[in-house]
Amino acid sequence: MRKLIVLSGSGISADSGLETFRSSGERSLWAQYDADLVCNFDTWEENFDLVHEFYSRRREQLAKVAPNDAHRLCVSWQERFGADLITQNVDDLFERAGAHDVLHVHGFLTSMRCVECGAEWHFGYRKFDPATDRCPHCQGLHVKPNVVFFHEQAPLYAEMWRRLAGLTHDDVLVVIGTSGNVLPIAEIARRTPATTVLSNLETESAMTENYFTHVLHGRAAEIAPQLDALATSLMERGAELVNI
Ligand SMILES: [Zn+2]
Repeated sequence: MRKLIVLSGSGISADSGLETFRSSGERSLWAQYDADLVCNFDTWEENFDLVHEFYSRRREQLAKVAPNDAHRLCVSWQERFGADLITQNVDDLFERAGAHDVLHVHGFLTSMRCVECGAEWHFGYRKFDPATDRCPHCQGLHVKPNVVFFHEQAPLYAEMWRRLAGLTHDDVLVVIGTSGNVLPIAEIARRTPATTVLSNLETESAMTENYFTHVLHGRAAEIAPQLDALATSLMERGAELVNI
């Protein structure tokens, strides 16, 4: 069966109004905190209260936004084509749109992890209280947002690379809302034998775009119908031959 993998990044959730690391504006949450202090694995325990204040505010923000048409489109691909959703996003908008088994390679904002015993648990959107919140398993205090920080290992990358390496020339890879700043999308597109689609708000370098079979520009939520038509035609191509 033909496979569809969707690799997404912050652009897809930015369309829901969620601020991203690269969102500009003085009022952006990211502008109010030094990311090197609040998202740094080497120093997070020194800045424990600040780290949790920042992540409590991110969860508060997340609770106020809703999935958009691009999230819903990915869910419909999961229903129609068994699409495999891999995301760099730590929000739960795919899940709230009805997705299941999303591979969150950079972690998950609404859960916590204990660095002492390794336990991970659902935390929801509430505020973290550094004075009272402890690991429910070992009662330890070394509790961290379950999000991959700078200088921290991203254990799910291995699984992501394994899935991408399994794509064949018959399969389809759709990359949505991510520039090449975090993941080497040009290299991924260059190496895979699959048909590739890039959907980004802004134009990437010609070098990057040339590696993709198809490129669509615009807000993912707005161009969802075009993206759907393209992916559907790619997934259903040749189906008539199979049916003969
Ligand atoms: Zn623990």
